[in-house]
Amino acid sequence: MSRIRLLDEVLVAQIAAGEVVERPASALKELVENALDAQSTEIIVTLEQGGVRCLRVEDNGYGMSAEELPWALTAHATSKIRSLSDLESVASLGFRGEALASMAAVADLTLISRTRENPYAASVRIEAGVSSGVSPAARDVGTTVQLRDLFAATPARRKFLKSEATEYAHCEEVLQRLALAFPQVGFRLQHNGRIIRHWPAADLALRVRSLLGEEFFQAALSLDEVAGPLSLAGWIARPTYQRATRDTQTLFVNGRFVRDKLLSHAIRQAYQDVLHHQRHPAYVLFLRLDPESLDVNVHPAKTEVRFREPQAVHRFVFQCLSKALATTSPSSDAALEPIGKPQASHPASVFPTPGPGKSGISFSVHPPQAERESVMPRQQSLAIQEPDRFHAALFGPLAAPLPSTPSSAPVGSSPSPSALPPLGFALAQLHGIYLLAQNQQGLILVDIHAAHERILYEQLKSRMDQEQLQVQALLVPVTFRAEPKWMALLEEHEQLLSQWGFHLTPMGPQTIGIRSLPALLHQADPVALVQEVLGELDRFGTSRVAQERRDECLATMACHGAIRAHQTLTLTEMNALLRQMEAIERADQCNHGRPTWHQMSLAELDRMFLRGR
Ligand code: ADP
Ligand code: MG
Repeated sequence: MSRIRLLDEVLVAQIAAGEVVERPASALKELVENALDAQSTEIIVTLEQGGVRCLRVEDNGYGMSAEELPWALTAHATSKIRSLSDLESVASLGFRGEALASMAAVADLTLISRTRENPYAASVRIEAGVSSGVSPAARDVGTTVQLRDLFAATPARRKFLKSEATEYAHCEEVLQRLALAFPQVGFRLQHNGRIIRHWPAADLALRVRSLLGEEFFQAALSLDEVAGPLSLAGWIARPTYQRATRDTQTLFVNGRFVRDKLLSHAIRQAYQDVLHHQRHPAYVLFLRLDPESLDVNVHPAKTEVRFREPQAVHRFVFQCLSKALATTSPSSDAALEPIGKPQASHPASVFPTPGPGKSGISFSVHPPQAERESVMPRQQSLAIQEPDRFHAALFGPLAAPLPSTPSSAPVGSSPSPSALPPLGFALAQLHGIYLLAQNQQGLILVDIHAAHERILYEQLKSRMDQEQLQVQALLVPVTFRAEPKWMALLEEHEQLLSQWGFHLTPMGPQTIGIRSLPALLHQADPVALVQEVLGELDRFGTSRVAQERRDECLATMACHGAIRAHQTLTLTEMNALLRQMEAIERADQCNHGRPTWHQMSLAELDRMFLRGR
């Protein structure tokens, strides 16, 4: 007898279902998309136990007749496309004809529906893969689909479900995105018998406002550009908008929420020159283009798309955003743009133009203009006569390490006291931002924050590679309020976070407690640091991806842990910084690809002053 056999139908359906229905939120997405495709104007979502116990979507769309019900539940049966050419220009959210069939394979499913033409509704129930047959029922025009006990029959999948709170948070996120894309539709969300959200039908601006918050809306620039078949509308945050803890990177292509590398790259690139103190721009954008120049059938969950002309789309999005961002000049927008334009404060002749940052993100520690003026030096001691004293302190037996890195490597590699170390000795701190040092060749200028950031990054990386990351426990846990989504991220990535030195625990339904941080980062603001790291994890989706892209996360952490502008450093600290820079590879580039120091030789200085030597 052959060892190769055909699988039975139920098993085939259960395997296929895995691709579409991964968790309650993915089932919810499919059901609400069906309701939207049926032109509903009111959609009610009811969940119990995060959608695992019960997940119900009721709509007032055009419904299905009794004859259509069995078809709706048949795999690869759809009313939305008929041919390949339809697929090429699909305008509905669904088209694969597999969502309902998949759900029926992994849950107890009840479908009740009524069309305008019918005085009665019809219902069908599928339990353990077996249909009850169609029977009459009572209902207004529209459709109700109810799932009970998701994955009850497939314990292997059920094991992968997270806590009720996590599954609920994913559901809410999915619904928020759909609500953003369909403002003209009213949505209601209930969980465990309580009404949690109600978004009445509204215009887009109002919907964006109520979903993303007044703060985002006020800080946002609106955008509405058309170029031939392409159009881009929505809101982008001004560069100075402090990243809220909400999910504020949302992109829709022809009404479909997508994650797309090409588009997010175009967006980041547009922000590149203006984005400070914040690694991720915030936006909600709606791109529309001819459906025929788009392939939406890339992935069963339909969150990926492929463009026929990717370059043209990239260019269009980049140009639209650049144009909008260009209107935010510091003078026209002083109140909202407290950060001085970085280019203006970089004397062009001193710093080589930084190339595009490796991560596409630029960073600045330049202080607001007002602050800058307030730190204008009065006559201060230049401390120029001090190096001798510290020279001894640094290279004697009592070498003083940088206080921010108590367990750092030995300072410098003890050159003979007569030879100046490559980066020389510190002279002074300029405007709280730059360190001036003298070495054999002349003058060294160091961007303190950038240099320290690079050092922390390399240290984090090597300690983690050697599994020697030291953790600093906080005496009293620092807590912060977190939305359900953040609680979910915490649960999802707990293990990875603790590997990275973050011991975080939920301390209430909407509170996260920070119990430890990587010791190297003890200078950072714990809450901002943790939020930024959670944001990164959110961006990567799964722990596996985050693990693979660990270094990007480390760069974020280093940025938070590094000395900020206007922290006054003693000469000891400045010298320690120089020694650490020498000890660390690639110290001339900060994590974002900016240079960290610059040498001005005596010859250059002589030329500058027309001084013949
Ligand atoms: P798809 O959406 O890809 O067509 P589904 O399995 O999600 O596949 O649905 C199958 C069919 O059932 C749809 O094509 C549609 O005709 C019908 N249908 C599903 N949900 C609804 C609904 N809420 N209202 C009206 N018709 C629906
Ligand atoms: Mg569908």
